[in-house]
Amino acid sequence: MLAGLARDGGLYLPAEWPQFSKAEIAALEGKPYVEVAYQVMRPFVGDTFDEPTFRRLIEEAYSSFETPEVAPLVPLGDSGMHLLELFHGPTLAFKDVALQLLGRMLDHTLTARKRRATIVGATSGDTGSAAIEAVRDRKTIDIFMLFPHGRVSEVQRRQMTTVLAPNVHNIAVQGTFDDCQDLAKACFNDLAFRDKHALTAVNSINFARVMAQIVYYFWAALKLGAPDRPVAFTVPSGNFGNVYAGYAAKNMGLPISHFVVAANTNDILARFFETGTMAMTGVVPTYSPSMDIQISSNFERLLFDLYGRDGKALAAAMTAFRSTNMLTVGANALGGVRELFDAGRVDDAGTLAAIADCVKRFGVTIDPHTAVGYAVAQQHRRDPEVPMVVLSTAHPAKFPDAVEKATGKRPALPPRLADLLERTERVDGLPNSEAALKQMIEDRGA
Ligand SMILES: *Cc1c(COP(=O)(O)O)cnc(C)c1O
Repeated sequence: MLAGLARDGGLYLPAEWPQFSKAEIAALEGKPYVEVAYQVMRPFVGDTFDEPTFRRLIEEAYSSFETPEVAPLVPLGDSGMHLLELFHGPTLAFKDVALQLLGRMLDHTLTARKRRATIVGATSGDTGSAAIEAVRDRKTIDIFMLFPHGRVSEVQRRQMTTVLAPNVHNIAVQGTFDDCQDLAKACFNDLAFRDKHALTAVNSINFARVMAQIVYYFWAALKLGAPDRPVAFTVPSGNFGNVYAGYAAKNMGLPISHFVVAANTNDILARFFETGTMAMTGVVPTYSPSMDIQISSNFERLLFDLYGRDGKALAAAMTAFRSTNMLTVGANALGGVRELFDAGRVDDAGTLAAIADCVKRFGVTIDPHTAVGYAVAQQHRRDPEVPMVVLSTAHPAKFPDAVEKATGKRPALPPRLADLLERTERVDGLPNSEAALKQMIEDRGA
């Protein structure tokens, strides 16, 4: 949790998955979200937190959500499809589910150890605001969030820059998102600097985020008849963190029939599941920007299993991938993974059509990321008897332009964010310079 990325550049994973028997899963039926969360996550935290502390952190994290259900499951008529609404947190995207908890776990741990940490991150949109909202006003943490000047939407920018807490440092970089990411990485790669400022990453490779996301797979499946009935999930995917959490739930004993990995035009994952080859291409901007990725950073965790859990072999494959932009797995490994994962893509026109279709058929307005899932899910219902849950990852008002284009109606921000466009902003400009960033962290950080 504190380190994020391992020092050798690899990703952390539990040595083994905690197992839940049928009876243990059945015992969670009808329990509130926070109780399911406690039971599902407890095996991962061991004695890091005692029971009352961990329960309190979970309760506080999810009291920041609009509804005590945290993640309501909404049936789409009698289609057998359901939307799992993960966007009722403070910044209206699913990232709040994990980050609201991670912020509190970090703060508690740092306070107990009388330590401080510095979060440095780069964002093209949703992650930045969710991370800022998760650690605002915490005395143990400074957060430096880099974003490309003029290249994030107004709602997304304001969700970051209107947080005026003293520990929040919003930085508009003269450059692209990739420049921002390179700057953040440069700070982490300077191990002396990293240690001096106790740099921490809260991006989606932090295993604590994966852990918190496992919970809602249990939550949704329980509502649809688990452990006695299987459930399928479709996940609008970018960095593969969300769908990987589902894979973890499956490994822990939850009866999941299969996953559908839904992509926009940036379909490196869909192509992998079709061909067994991961080949990097450029990124194309789409209506679902949080899925506009070049490489899915969490995919390495699934590849670990495809390489027989041989860390050395995987490290060699990843090193080769970084130089050749290409990675291929064998037919056996691919066959196994295709039993569990389907994949598909939809372009911008298909995304708008899906938003319109969902309103017309079910009277529900969805955001463009959810729409990608909704469209792809329908192509991959393996068994009509098995309920299909589409993860709904953002509130439609977060992406009003695309939704208005599709439906003719501009979705309104929920009341607690209604004045967002009038709030005062605070942001610093920065040239695309590693030295300038490090100086800023020296001057302002701990
Ligand atoms: C981050 C994000 C995604 C992609 O999730 P991954 O875990 O990166 O696959 C999808 N939709 C929205 C709205 C997001 O913010």
